[in-house]
Amino acid sequence: MTSLNNRVSLMDINLSAEFRSQLESLKRAGRPIISLNVGEPDFNTPEHICQAAIEAIEQGFTKYTPVEGIYELREAICTKFREENNVEYTPADIIVSTGAKQVLANALYAICNEGDEVLIPTPCWGSYPEMVKLIGATPVFVNTEEPGGAVLTADKIKQHITDKTKAIILNNPHNPTGAVYDRELLREIGNLAHEGNFYVISDEVYEYLAYEGEFFSMASISSDIKAKTITVNGLSKAFAMTGWRVGYAAGPKQVIDAMRLIQSYTTSNMNSISQKAAVAALSGSKESVDHMVREFDRRRRFIVQRLQQMQGISCLTPRGAFYIMVNVAAFFGKSYKDCMIRNSMDFSMYILNETNVLMSPGVIFMAPDYVRISYSNSLENLEIAMDRMEKALRLLTD
Ligand code: PMP
Repeated sequence: MTSLNNRVSLMDINLSAEFRSQLESLKRAGRPIISLNVGEPDFNTPEHICQAAIEAIEQGFTKYTPVEGIYELREAICTKFREENNVEYTPADIIVSTGAKQVLANALYAICNEGDEVLIPTPCWGSYPEMVKLIGATPVFVNTEEPGGAVLTADKIKQHITDKTKAIILNNPHNPTGAVYDRELLREIGNLAHEGNFYVISDEVYEYLAYEGEFFSMASISSDIKAKTITVNGLSKAFAMTGWRVGYAAGPKQVIDAMRLIQSYTTSNMNSISQKAAVAALSGSKESVDHMVREFDRRRRFIVQRLQQMQGISCLTPRGAFYIMVNVAAFFGKSYKDCMIRNSMDFSMYILNETNVLMSPGVIFMAPDYVRISYSNSLENLEIAMDRMEKALRLLTD
């Protein structure tokens, strides 16, 4: 067989994508699955945003745009940074791309050389290490696990900095732990980057979903830190727009220019219709966002309360995003009928087969003792899922 690119063989199978495909076939087969694995809001995209897209089509706004995105959108992004994050950018410092995912890939391509090291605190979103491997750099994991949960400190990061460190990827609020980092911790990490001359790729896609503790954008901490920060954001989570594929970056001009060059030869501009929709989202009313955030918060409280009542389960209260990490190690070694649970994958499969509730095994996030539950689902479904899960756990014996 003609061979493939060597780096592809370094990449792990994308379990999240596999689950998404499997979920579709299980549903097609008539299984009444409640999916608590998905990383997307269950709300519809707000009406005024959809309307802007319809108008764009009707007005023939269906052609190529500048690679970096239309000026109007980059200006709206600058206004958002100024008004909501207290950071000054000009449209020349901004690029829009096909989702935060493409932004992240472009940023890594723009800054990393073969052999460069990229720090990734774990648990982490599964795409970070694979992207780093794909571009030929090396992921260096900073394990933040403590007996009670994950705790990130600047000291833990410091221990992994070498002369090859090119960047750290920081996600705040955090998928999967739901952590929200305070200003002091951001300052300490930002200063490490300034002193060590590496970049902070600050993934802020869950920015609006901070229920406890205030969200601070990394670039707002100081001008020295801003000079080292590539802010990554997008509209998927904030405005229930996962399918529209809107992401953007702000950062040092030479990095943004390099990202633009890369994008010009790969995908060109982000979808023109979504760009008009994004302008409407960023400059329109935030009422629907506020509603969504309140709903997520209600669900968060509910799910924490239910999980903490379950024998053998332990979890911390997440402060942001819409996920909760649940430690299920107490069930390893237990079984029901011919199903033995040895790890978080077995645990997820047992819950799926026994209860039709799908949750993500922690291996996806480099947290092998955990499963991740997304509470982006209706309260009714969450209640049914928790009832079924509690029952299934009681069946497990040594
Ligand atoms: N960063 C994190 C931490 C995420 O969880 C996700 C989506 N799961 C993304 C980035 C990608 O978002 P987008 O839809 O904008 O590509």
